[in-house]
Amino acid sequence: MYLKSLPMIAATAAAVSSPATAHDDRLIEFPQTLDGGFILAADLHTHSVFSDGAVWPSIRVEEAQRDGLELLAVTEHLEAQPKEADIPNPDRNRSYEVAVESLVRSGGQGLMVINGAEVSRRQPYGHINAVFLDDANALLTSDVEDALKAANDQNGFVFVNHPNWIPHQPDGVARLSDELIELIESGLIHGIEVVNGTLDGHSEEALELAFQYDLTVLGTSDIHGLVDWTHNAGSGGHRPMSLILADERTPEAMKQALFDGHTVAWSYDDLMGGAENVEKVVRACLTLEAKPYPENTTVLPVDIVNNCPVNFTLRNTSEETFQNVSDVVRVERDGRFTLQVRTGAEPVSTLDLKFEVMNTQVGSRRSLELAFSADVPE
Ligand SMILES: [Zn+2]
Ligand SMILES: [Zn+2]
Repeated sequence: MYLKSLPMIAATAAAVSSPATAHDDRLIEFPQTLDGGFILAADLHTHSVFSDGAVWPSIRVEEAQRDGLELLAVTEHLEAQPKEADIPNPDRNRSYEVAVESLVRSGGQGLMVINGAEVSRRQPYGHINAVFLDDANALLTSDVEDALKAANDQNGFVFVNHPNWIPHQPDGVARLSDELIELIESGLIHGIEVVNGTLDGHSEEALELAFQYDLTVLGTSDIHGLVDWTHNAGSGGHRPMSLILADERTPEAMKQALFDGHTVAWSYDDLMGGAENVEKVVRACLTLEAKPYPENTTVLPVDIVNNCPVNFTLRNTSEETFQNVSDVVRVERDGRFTLQVRTGAEPVSTLDLKFEVMNTQVGSRRSLELAFSADVPE
């Protein structure tokens, strides 16, 4: 009976293991930036049953492959081990090793899995992640500074987690304690989460703190259950993540870009980060394409083309207005929207339009305003 049903199970597994065909709208793929760089999807904060997560590490790997991530960090709580009675976990690298074993079994498929850990304390330290670790056990020490020094000795990338977490900040406003500021100023911490998926936490204050202390802007899932359930992955949703702007599609280039602060946090349709980084992503995503003028009119059809898996909401700030819609335009992910632009009394040969990109955040309550240009064909 069991033997008979096995081939069926195997066939099903093979069918769903090919994400491009099984979930066309799921695989995250961004075009290259205009300067030839790469926009690479990374989740640097995840849990499994080796700490307080609900799944085996192999599920993390499969999810990441289906989502089309380039980089996945396994970051169990070092101290909190609620499943100790079932999974004693004396070796804090074990979760990562299990993930790598499952990655190898699956043939790799371009995903890179890295070792990490979550140093989990009450205030004034809160929770701090370290990734690109060689040995997570070295961080298992009572002193937070010693743990972060151990991470830095391994050339790890270290960041503050969920600084607006309500149990630590009851008003929901991100703050850094004097103790954390000291660790940042001594160079032991390099980044900060502005978005955390498990807490549904979004923080413009954390974004301002990133600018103030020169920290890399990060979005993470902090996933404990399944991304399909929590973030509607595969049905138009996606986990919050970091988009790394790297010169090359390599682990070294991704790590360098993290240390250099070349990232954008992506959550729902929000793109958050420094203006320069966010502009790079938006310009990779959106272009204007003018069509020829129809006869006897100066109303010009112009497509806004969206090459990214992000829905854009734009507010027209140009002098020109539109014949078919108001100033607020939504351009669906991987879609296009045709504007009918009133170009004035005479036809133009080049059209310039300015938009506030409302789904970007480049500071507290600030979004990007960009000019786009298109040549009008004869
Ligand atoms: Zn945490
Ligand atoms: Zn966590």
